[in-house]
Amino acid sequence: MNTIKKFVSLINHDIANENESKSFTVMLRWSYCLMVVYFLCYFVYCIVFHLYTESADIIPWLFMIGMGLFLTYRISSTKNFLIFTLVLLTWAVISVFTFGWNCGSQHFMMPLLIMCFFSIHDSTFKKFCFMGILIVVRLYLFFYCQDHTPLVKLSQDAGFTLQILNTIFLFMSMGIVCLIFSSTVQESEKKLWLYNQKLQTLASTDPLTKLPNRRYMLDLMEKYIATHPNENFSVALGDIDLFKTVNDTRGHNCGDDVLKEIAALFRKRTEDKGHVCRWGGEEFFFFFPGMNLDVASAFMTDLNIAVSKHPMHDKHQKFYVTMTFGVEEYDYQSDISTLINRADEKLYYGKEHGRNKVIF
Ligand code: GH3
Ligand code: MG
Ligand code: MG
Repeated sequence: MNTIKKFVSLINHDIANENESKSFTVMLRWSYCLMVVYFLCYFVYCIVFHLYTESADIIPWLFMIGMGLFLTYRISSTKNFLIFTLVLLTWAVISVFTFGWNCGSQHFMMPLLIMCFFSIHDSTFKKFCFMGILIVVRLYLFFYCQDHTPLVKLSQDAGFTLQILNTIFLFMSMGIVCLIFSSTVQESEKKLWLYNQKLQTLASTDPLTKLPNRRYMLDLMEKYIATHPNENFSVALGDIDLFKTVNDTRGHNCGDDVLKEIAALFRKRTEDKGHVCRWGGEEFFFFFPGMNLDVASAFMTDLNIAVSKHPMHDKHQKFYVTMTFGVEEYDYQSDISTLINRADEKLYYGKEHGRNKVIF
């Protein structure tokens, strides 16, 4: 088990050129490994069917494949792909010359074509040139086989077995290439999705209090009105009283702590009742879906009392802050900004008439 893990980590090991696609190099390494297994199977095949001269041929092929694999750790994947192509293409050609068209080795050009098209660094022009070369080689082999007999005449069993061997490895080779590229695409899509989620959260969250921000709340209300046209709701706008004094006498950091404390209190209290956001500065906005003015006002009155009783801390000193709120109910006609303006007017009225109040 440990050996397999070490082997896999060696294959997934970093690439020679960090600016290149890692998945392409990893795919090349797996393809080289598969070719090693293929040539070992071919060796067994040659022994079983008494093709002793051919069995000796695997030594240079294994050497070239080993070199190619080693070079994936040293040179760029584009250069290495050329080596892989040369090895595989030469093998396909020699194999067809030796055993004839029916051996099926010419099909090894397919995985080469897929690999070339998945290589993101090469231009489309180069890819089509590569495809052209493969077509020419294949057609040449086809016509060559029409009027040339194979160098080695295989028995029917040997021909079938070689066809089976080539088919299995051809499909495995294409499978590896497609698997690696499809998982790379899936991985990139997942990363993009997570990144988008993160961006969306950042764009809709207030960094200080970690509450949703004004944009998020407006979107939420718009969606609510669109999906629940016959449901009422209430909103409330709250502002900390004389907050400037807190900043001036206790410092800006203490002011920030007050905002965070109040945000945490609001978040906890509104959890199952509605939504709260930081509207801006020392203002907070509440949205209560399906709640009428009476219920919302009673809730905000309780909340106002809770704020005034919530101890704030400035070093070792305790102090208290109060807030003023304006509450408004949806009238099924006004747009969101009119509704918010009305809540703001009530809040202003509360400020004008002594603060620490809920106006509804
Ligand atoms: P009022 O009762 O009329 O609302 O008085 P106020 O002092 O709260 O009102 P004012 O608008 O004069 O002051 C608001 C202050 O809130 C001024 C600003 O520096 C402070 N403030 C706004 N955002 C932040 C913040 O993120 N952190 C801190 N510490 N202070 C903030
Ligand atoms: Mg204020
Ligand atoms: Mg204010």
